[in-house]
This record gives sequence, structure tokens and C-alpha cells, in this order.
Amino acid sequence: MQNIQMVDLVSQYKKIKNEIDKEIFSVIESAKFIKGPAVTEFQDNLAAYLNAKHVIACGNGTDALQIALMALDLKLGDEVITADFTFIATVEVIALLGLKPILVDVDPDTFTLDIKALEKAITPKTKAIIPVHLFGQAADMDKIQQIAKKHNLYVIEDTAQALGADYLFEDKRQKLGTIGDIGCTSFFPSKNLGTFGDGGALFTNNDELAEKIRSITNHGMKVRYYHDYIGVNSRLDSLHAAILKVKLRYLDIYNKARQKAAEYYDNAFKKCEKLAIPKRNNKSTHIFHQYTLKLKNADRAALIEYLKSKNIPAMIYYPVPLHKQKAYRMYDFNNREFPVTNSLSGEVFSLPMHTELTKEQQDYIIEHVLKFLS
Ligand SMILES: *Cc1c(COP(=O)(O)O)cnc(C)c1O
Repeated sequence: MQNIQMVDLVSQYKKIKNEIDKEIFSVIESAKFIKGPAVTEFQDNLAAYLNAKHVIACGNGTDALQIALMALDLKLGDEVITADFTFIATVEVIALLGLKPILVDVDPDTFTLDIKALEKAITPKTKAIIPVHLFGQAADMDKIQQIAKKHNLYVIEDTAQALGADYLFEDKRQKLGTIGDIGCTSFFPSKNLGTFGDGGALFTNNDELAEKIRSITNHGMKVRYYHDYIGVNSRLDSLHAAILKVKLRYLDIYNKARQKAAEYYDNAFKKCEKLAIPKRNNKSTHIFHQYTLKLKNADRAALIEYLKSKNIPAMIYYPVPLHKQKAYRMYDFNNREFPVTNSLSGEVFSLPMHTELTKEQQDYIIEHVLKFLS
């Protein structure tokens, strides 16, 4: 049996090596490394896939979130609400821009924004909400859009972990990242659509926002050397666009492979009283960026240590809720407002999940998880 990894990018590459290598060499031979035709083509293909009017590629997913906020004309101290249970990037960019991060607790089943907590957090200074579609499934976008409309707030979807998932929004299936004002994603290698390095993108159906975003990613200019906004330098390199062009053609197949692996785990773990398998939100597909279980009445550290001794990697996403992070102490978050993230951070663990998992590998993982818990 092949070594088990959290993500197996080498095996995935080997299956499409010919297509990928051809695209990479064609960029090298053209020497159009920056803003080359591969970038435009990839943006167009992704826009068609998502049914989004505009896709603007950028340097990484964190930049995408920052650029989205920069495009909204917010003032210092304006409040932006996001989930307490996410990767740090989501809240980092709010703080970096001098906006005030307002964290809210999450739903214990889907790990996404808790709607009641969200409503409670809204003040006259609230300007935007950043729902995070964590682990591959959607936050409650119907309610979030209703709340945003009622209070005149922008919605920026953090789709870094859920690219390709869709959601039944107002009776129409839509890709995540295209429901709010702006969607942001990451092409970090291990993401569902990953390149061989860093990359990211923003999506929007709003022409004005698209024009502004395009300009901000390129030093705030529309006409060369005339700067209308304070911008950044954040580009997707042509080489990455070339790789992503190929991998986008496989995204649905990859996501299906993840779903199949998740179902296999589900069937093995659903009867174990010490494990809670990932719950599905009934409006969203779940594309399993992570397969995350909750552990009850068992020692998580000992389980992970045991699995490691059997050469099975397991990870904790996320061990510390954002409101407890040292760098964010100055915001004085009230620990009592986060009962769910406080308990989740002590219970969750994620098992290997990728497109190349074999039945043999999964059987081996399952056998040892259940053996430890029996
Ligand atoms: C990966 C990730 C990001 C950041 O993406 P990078 O490309 O690594 O900058 C942002 N938000 C979430 C939820 C992520 O998982």
C-alpha cells in the first residue's frame, strides 16, 4: 500500500502530467509570464464554470479577501463580521485594513456562521459580512443574504475551501462565491482546485466592482501610470493559470472523488458512538475540502498519536478559535459568546481526504480509528 498522506498531489499530477507539462512549456516558450493569454483564458473558463460575470485572478486567497474589502470604500473602524472558526486569513485582512473584526460563533453541525449570533452582532457600524464556506460546504446563504439586504451590508464569500460546491439559493442552484457581492477563492496547492504554488481569484456579477477590483490588483491603475486607487501588486502568474486551466477541467471529477471517499468514511464511522460524522446542510453540496469528525468521550491527542504510529496522518482544523489568538487580543472578544467554537476546537479532527485515496488506504485508516476507539 502506498504511504498515506493528508493530500496526495504527486499521484494526482502523474495522471494528468502530459496535459499539464504541455501547457507549462507553452507558457515558457511564449515568455508571456505576466498577464499572458493563459491568465485571460483561465479567468474566462472559470467564469463560465461558475456562471459568474467576472473572474479576476490574483496572487493568493488572502489577497483576494483583502482586495475585496479594499473595493468596498469602507472607513477606518467600520465593522466586518466573520466566523470565529476559520483559517486566520479571513480575519487578518479585516484587521490589516484598519477595519474592526467582529467574530461570531458557528453552528455546531455545519461549522459555518451561526445566524442568530450574526444578527445579534450587527450594529450601525457594520458594513460587511464574510461568510466562510468551511471544509467544503456552504454557510446559510439564504439567511445571510436576507440579513445583508435588510441592513444594507456587503457580503464577501470566502470560498477558499468550497470551490465547485453549489447551493440552492432562492430555488436556483448557484455555485458558491457567486451569491454574495464578491466571492474569493484560493488556489493553494491543497485546495480543491490547487496550483503548484500560490494563486487566488475574486468573482462578481457587479460590473463596477469588477472594474475596481481589476484596477486594485494592478496598483490601482486603469491606464498605465495613472493611479485612481491605492492598489496592490497581486497577480496570478501565467504558469499557474496554465496549470489551473487543465485542473479546472477535472474539478468536478475531483470533487466527486472526495464525496465518494467521504461517504465511505461515513458508512464506517456512523455507528461509532464516540464519533460524529460531518453533517450536511440540506441546501448545499459538500465537496469535502476536509473530512472533519467530532470526537466525544475519548482522548483526541492520544488518538492522533496512535494514528501517527500507524503512519496515518490526522490534523486538527482548527485547534484555537480566532477570538483566543494572541495577535487579536486588543479587540477584547468576550469568551462567553463562543460556546460552540470553544467546544469544537477541543473535539474536531480531520482524516486524510483527497482525490487519490484508495479503498485499501481508507480501510486501513478506518480499521485503526475504530480499533483505538473500541
Ligand atoms: C486557504 C484559505 C485562505 C487563504 O488562501 P491563501 O491562498 O493561502 O492565501 C482563506 N480562507 C480560507 C477559509 C482558507 O482555507
